Amino acid sequence: MKVKFTFLLLLTAVAASAQDMAFARKMVDTLTSAHFWGRGYTNDGLAKATGFLVAQFKSYGLTPMNGKAFTQDFTYPVNTFPGKVEVAINVMQLVPGRDYIISPDSRGVKGGGKLEQRDSIHFVDAENSIVVELKDKLTWSVAPQAVDYTVIEVDKKAIRSIPLSIKADIENKLVSSFKTANICGVVKGTVKPDSMIVFSAHYDHLGGMGSKTFFPGANDNASGVTQLLTLAKYYASHPQPYTIAFILFSGEEAGLLGSKYFTEHPLVPLQNIRFLVNLDLEGTGVDGITVVNATVYPKEFGMLKQINDKYQYFVKVNSRGKAANSDHYLFTEKGVPAMYMYTLGGIKAYHDIYDISATLPLNEYEDLFRLLVKFTDGLMGKPVIQ
Ligand SMILES: [Zn+2]
Repeated sequence: MKVKFTFLLLLTAVAASAQDMAFARKMVDTLTSAHFWGRGYTNDGLAKATGFLVAQFKSYGLTPMNGKAFTQDFTYPVNTFPGKVEVAINVMQLVPGRDYIISPDSRGVKGGGKLEQRDSIHFVDAENSIVVELKDKLTWSVAPQAVDYTVIEVDKKAIRSIPLSIKADIENKLVSSFKTANICGVVKGTVKPDSMIVFSAHYDHLGGMGSKTFFPGANDNASGVTQLLTLAKYYASHPQPYTIAFILFSGEEAGLLGSKYFTEHPLVPLQNIRFLVNLDLEGTGVDGITVVNATVYPKEFGMLKQINDKYQYFVKVNSRGKAANSDHYLFTEKGVPAMYMYTLGGIKAYHDIYDISATLPLNEYEDLFRLLVKFTDGLMGKPVIQ
């Protein structure tokens, strides 16, 4: 009987896990699809993502953090590339995203001519104020303004000879007040509802560059959003003594703007937040995880290590100090205990068109979930090592 029962438990565990894996893969596929256009500034991509994720929160049974709405609206300026992005060098048409990127603070330009070499990597068309810069790797980002020239970063592997001439047709649009929103939901605590454990992840990415190219952002940060949604679903059906809160930030890639807005306009008193765990780049993990703020919160980091040592979720849990590299940072600066965990190993794609679902392993997705649930138990004073 006992053997049978254990076997049954094992079966349910496996079934539940296969289901979660299917959910995770589907969610990453969905968030990285062309429909959401890189969760950015053109084709309504970011707004579509907001609507979709609010609907997810609702369907799990979360309630709005402020009791009224899941969204916290805010605005910021951003330079966008909604239309044409075409570049030819030495009369050879280049492929956007693969062969080149437009520096995010560039202005649009239509024209071209001879390129003059300035140094080993810079070539200039002075008449049209175009700079060509040769790069070993293309890494895109988001800019709040447009300068009065155009920088085209070209992958060295894309051109065989020295750039002598350029032809460009690039359209930019500076949006002075781009509207977006953080998404904030909670599962009310059963004993101490004013004490909160917060999970955060940014759902924005870089968006699109022209009408043909978008940056899917699978690891950055469809992976973190997916892990957060999995936790939200779990806690919605397993309420805890403390309130478990979930914040999906926007504007992270534009300079931590969503978490900046939230910490300046908090929907709950910041001192109610007992701990915040930020999730960003969670799609790998074969080489372990790194914990930012580990040295700032040695007690909590010690507990996390202890849990991992006991259950062997990750091969390594690295300690790192303070870093302004994701949304936890502004909370730390306001005195809110926070850690940021990111997974290591596997893929090298980062802020480029290769950060796609098909090559994102998600191999430690379930172990990360288990680690986070146990860590949350520990933060609430439950025993975590039996
Ligand atoms: Zn990110």
